Amino acid sequence: MSIDKILLDHGSGGKASHSLIADLLVPEFENPILAQLDDSAIFDIEGKRLAFSTDTYVVDPIFFPGGNIGDLAVNGTVNDLAMCGATPLYLSVGLIIEEGLSMADLKKILKAMREAARKADVLIVTGDTKVVPNGAADKIFINTSGVGLIPEGTNISGHNARPGDKIIISGTIADHGITVLTQREGMTFESPIQSDTAPLNHMVREMIAASDQVHALRDPTRGGVGTSLNEIAAQSKVGIKIYEEALPIREEVSGICELLGFDPLYVANEGKLLAFVGPDVWEKVLETMKASEYGKDACIIGEVVADSPGKVFMKTRIGSTRIVNMLTGEQLPRIC
Ligand code: MG
Repeated sequence: MSIDKILLDHGSGGKASHSLIADLLVPEFENPILAQLDDSAIFDIEGKRLAFSTDTYVVDPIFFPGGNIGDLAVNGTVNDLAMCGATPLYLSVGLIIEEGLSMADLKKILKAMREAARKADVLIVTGDTKVVPNGAADKIFINTSGVGLIPEGTNISGHNARPGDKIIISGTIADHGITVLTQREGMTFESPIQSDTAPLNHMVREMIAASDQVHALRDPTRGGVGTSLNEIAAQSKVGIKIYEEALPIREEVSGICELLGFDPLYVANEGKLLAFVGPDVWEKVLETMKASEYGKDACIIGEVVADSPGKVFMKTRIGSTRIVNMLTGEQLPRIC
């Protein structure tokens, strides 16, 4: 069945988004840099390796516990650069503002961007502002692009995971997606959960300094951990085995997932990373992450195997094994 219109599902970050990119965008713009399909484009200019990335934010609501669309937009691009081992340097900001947005809200968003840029140690050096009539956008959409420098000798890519690698998650999963969802639905809870939006570049730099066996990194944003693991399995042509009981998840987040029928493996994170690290050095890398501000709850969730390339398996709590596919269907639209 051919689809003649864009569906919300195409924005999920899961299977439909991947087909849209692979079937429509990549063939149209075909080139070897784009073909890598990592979190940033990587290329050399005059002997320097650069990373270049872009991302657009349409989160609803624009303010939520733990952050707002502004810091989300800065952290997201900072993290996409960091996932390629780059030191993020300069960001651009494009604002699409709906007529009627309050000046106070806009100022709050810009302040959050400034503070996020300061924390990540990047400069916002260029930008653009457009205003569209009421109803043509929803309050504000933000695009950020960024460039970073990849230190010599660093070679981190979704293509580089190899059998024997340990898979580390930097902390609890599904916090961001569940926070935005509950905020949108006006649900309140006794123990407030909040978005994990955070810049991960400083932690990544420390991880790379601790070991040259950090093979692949990915921030499991839209599509969640389940989708990111599938991306790496496909890019690196390896199998991945994870353990359900090893997945760190806050009790209240897990409770809400159960209540609303969401699988936390597919819920978005905005301040977490998955690291694929060589078997001899994972302890050192894990310790480095645990000592870092945004990696305190880091832990091993699985490993890379040689069998079943391209597939992700999960050993469940009850001892059975199930296949973890890429996210299909739109679970939570406008989550970032
Ligand atoms: Mg990413």
